[in-house]
Amino acid sequence: MFLKQSSIKLEIGFLLSMFKNLFFTSILILLLILPFQPVLAQSSTELPVYIVQPGDTLNLIAVRFGISVTDLLNANSLENPDILNIGTALKIPGLEGFSGTLTTDVAGLGATLTGLSRQYQFPVDLLVKLNRITSPAEIFIGSTLVLPSLEESLELSPISPLDEGESLFEKAVSNGLNPWELILTNNETASLSLVPGESLYALSNSPGGSKFSSDLVESIDISPLPLVQGKTEVITVKTKAPATLSGELNGVPLIFQDTGDNEYVTIQGMHALALTGLTDFKIQVSSEGVETFRLDQAILIESGYYPQDPALYVDEQTIDPAFTGPEDQKIRELVTPATDERYWSVIFKQPVDEPACIKSWYGNRRSYNGGPFIYFHTGVDYGVCANLNIYAPAPGKIVFSDELTVRGLATIIDHGWGIYSGIWHQSKTMVEVGDFVEAGQLIGEIGATGRVTGPHLHWEVWANGVQVEPLDWLDTLYPDDYLAAP
Ligand SMILES: [Zn+2]
Repeated sequence: MFLKQSSIKLEIGFLLSMFKNLFFTSILILLLILPFQPVLAQSSTELPVYIVQPGDTLNLIAVRFGISVTDLLNANSLENPDILNIGTALKIPGLEGFSGTLTTDVAGLGATLTGLSRQYQFPVDLLVKLNRITSPAEIFIGSTLVLPSLEESLELSPISPLDEGESLFEKAVSNGLNPWELILTNNETASLSLVPGESLYALSNSPGGSKFSSDLVESIDISPLPLVQGKTEVITVKTKAPATLSGELNGVPLIFQDTGDNEYVTIQGMHALALTGLTDFKIQVSSEGVETFRLDQAILIESGYYPQDPALYVDEQTIDPAFTGPEDQKIRELVTPATDERYWSVIFKQPVDEPACIKSWYGNRRSYNGGPFIYFHTGVDYGVCANLNIYAPAPGKIVFSDELTVRGLATIIDHGWGIYSGIWHQSKTMVEVGDFVEAGQLIGEIGATGRVTGPHLHWEVWANGVQVEPLDWLDTLYPDDYLAAP
C-alpha cells in the first residue's frame, strides 16, 4: 500500500515537473511571438472598415485615406476590383489607433473640429488624420468628411452653448441633464476649458436638446448641398421667437419670407458664372430682448459643368452695350421686388405643348460674333415642334409685356417671393401688364423677334435676382421639397 502510494506520488511529481517545464516553454514561446501578435491581429481583423458610398471608386477611396490602390487591394480580397458595389465594407490599412466603421458626410452649418469631435465622440487628432486636415479652416459647409459611423443609440443632439460666466454644471442643471454625463459626453474633465458659444452635445434621449445651439435660432438649413452654379437654393431658418432676418450668399443679399410659426424661408439662385470654390454665407437673426445671432461661414460652390455653345453670329446692334445695357438694367429692375405672396403651390408646367424640343440648354457658355465666351445662356430654348402656343408655367402677375431690342416681344410674370418667368422672342402676346394668369394659361405665340437665329421660345426663371436652371422647376417644388423637417 505504502509503495503504491509513493509510486503514485512520484508519478504525480513527475507529471507536475513535466507540466511545469511545458508551462515555462509555452511562456517562452508566447513571449517570443507576443510582440508580433497585435500586428497580426490588427492586419487580419481589426482594420477600420469603410462602407462604399455612391460615386466612390477605388482610386477616390485610396486618395481620401492617403493610401495606394495596391494597399487597398492587398487589405481586401475583391473578386473583381473593377466592380465596386455601394455598401461593400472595405478594410482600410494604415490607420493605427482606430477600428470600427467609417462613413462620409457633408459638413453642415456650424461644423468645427471640436464640435465634430464631441458629436462623434472621436478624438480631434484622429479626425485630423482621417481627413488629412492641415487647418481647421478646411472644414467648410459642403466639404466631404470621413467620420466614424455613429450607432443610433449614441446619436447626440446639440444643446445651447455656455453663456458668458455659465459653468457646465449650471448648463446641465438648466437642461435637466446629469452634469457628469454632460462632462464625459463632451470629453471635458473640467468646465474651465469650455469656451462660451462653443457647440455642446447631449445624448438624444436627454431633454432640452435643440437643432441649433442658440437661444434664438432653432435651426438653419440650406439645401441642396454643396451649392452648384445655376441651381436654386432653399434656406430655412427656424427661430424660438419672432425675428428679423438678413443675410448674404455669394455676395447677394438674402430676402427672407415669413411663413408663420417662427419659420423664415428664402429661395436664392446661384449664378451660372459664380466662381467655384469657397464663398461666404452670412445670416443675422435679431429679436427684441434676445441677443442677435450671427452666422458667418465659408461654403463650397461647385461647377455646373456647362459646355460651350457653337459661336453665334447675330446683328451687331443686338450685342452693342449701348443697347443691351439699358435693356438689361430695365429687366433687372422688373425682377428685383420680392412680392410677399407666393402664387404657386405645385411644380411649374412646361410652357409649350408636347412634343417639346429643347434647342439650347440653360448655362451653356456663349460667344457672339467671334468674341470671347463671356456670356451664358440664361434660359432654355424650345424650338417649334408641336405648335406656336406659349403657356404660363405657373400662376402670377404680368409685370411686363412689350417689344425689346435683344429679347424681342417679351413677357415677364411675377410668381411671388422673388421668383419671375421671362418669356422672349414672341410673335404675339395675349396678356397685358396687371393681368393675373393661371398655370397653363395661353399667353402668347412663339416667334423670332429680337436677338435670334430662328423662331424659338426662350424661357428663363429668376430666383432673387439670379437666373437659374428653369428645368429644375419642372420637377422640384420649391421651397417645399427642401423645407427642413419640423
Ligand atoms: Zn435662349
